[in-house]
Amino acid sequence: MKIITIVGARPQFIKAAAVSRAFAKHSQIEEIIVHTGQHFDANMSDIFFEEMQIPKPHYNLDINGLGHGAMTGQMLEKIEKVLIKENPDWVLVYGDTNSTLAGALAASKLHIKIAHVEAGLRSFNMKMPEEVNRILTDRISTILFCPTQTAIDNLSAEGYDNIDIKTSLCGDVMQDAAIFYAEKSRKPNFDIPKEFVLATIHRAENTDDLSRLHSIIDALHEIGEKTPIILPLHPRTVNIIKNNSIDIDHSKVNIIQPVGYLEMVYLLQNCKMVMSDSGGLQKEAFFFAKPCITLRDETEWVELVNNGFNTIVGADKTKIISTFHNQKFDIDFSVNLYGGGNAADKIALELMRYL
Ligand code: UDP
Repeated sequence: MKIITIVGARPQFIKAAAVSRAFAKHSQIEEIIVHTGQHFDANMSDIFFEEMQIPKPHYNLDINGLGHGAMTGQMLEKIEKVLIKENPDWVLVYGDTNSTLAGALAASKLHIKIAHVEAGLRSFNMKMPEEVNRILTDRISTILFCPTQTAIDNLSAEGYDNIDIKTSLCGDVMQDAAIFYAEKSRKPNFDIPKEFVLATIHRAENTDDLSRLHSIIDALHEIGEKTPIILPLHPRTVNIIKNNSIDIDHSKVNIIQPVGYLEMVYLLQNCKMVMSDSGGLQKEAFFFAKPCITLRDETEWVELVNNGFNTIVGADKTKIISTFHNQKFDIDFSVNLYGGGNAADKIALELMRYL
């Protein structure tokens, strides 16, 4: 069985590596990895693949630095060529990026079966490109691998019980990855305070809206007076901060370059809590038993909020600060919300049923 896996962003590689390890246990599965090139940073060079034990892509389409339309269009065109050449049984896509949608669409037009991992998630915010990508990808897939019961329920509510698309509750491959990399974590090459908040800001809704960005940075400054903040920041956000003359007091908010995943895991293991607008980090905070404050107006990971592990605060400075001060730390994180770390094996076994 030949499977073409489409990946383009760092989290997708991390998830795909977990699934590749599971595929490797089945000699009948031949996997070919296609890197669209959507996401590229210094931490994604050769060393990223080596230290993360991620199989190197067979194809690199090198599509980046374009607007949404041009990017998705070029991916569609180039992925189609690969699919025609390789003639796979399945195309496997992850999450909600332009690479996800382009991969699924290219496969669908060639009548190739599509497996969507991280299916069924919804933020119910159609302004997010991710929401559009995931809804469209779900609808044209053959099998939907859902990380949570919430995702299954979302699909039911959209009528998927009456559509000929299989849904499978397999758990979250990100948990498989967190468990795998936990013992490989690496201390970053800078002084780590004894107690700190690990923060990230990268979503367009925060970085491209200056009033939200100001408000978040102001809140981080105030919190940083007592509890240092470590903020790995993408160069794009650094440029926005520079170009708009947003002052950063580095003694309170320690901006660093994006770190490799093994270092990120170290920071997760050692921080006091997480503040982020990232989807993945909300769950990683939970996997490493840290409370999370989410700098968004909604989340796809509602079970974290319902169980008190995560608080949604948006970009409101007062709310961010008061939530931080009222945060409880004696939380029992032992509840199993994401399957417990065997999602990749379940995905491989399910696909094997189609042999
Ligand atoms: N990440 C990382 N280094 C960083 C920032 C993030 O390794 O400097 C990891 C993070 O731990 C998570 C993933 O990248 O696994 C999340 O990526 P991002 O926040 O860009 O995307 P999202 O999860 O929102 O799709």
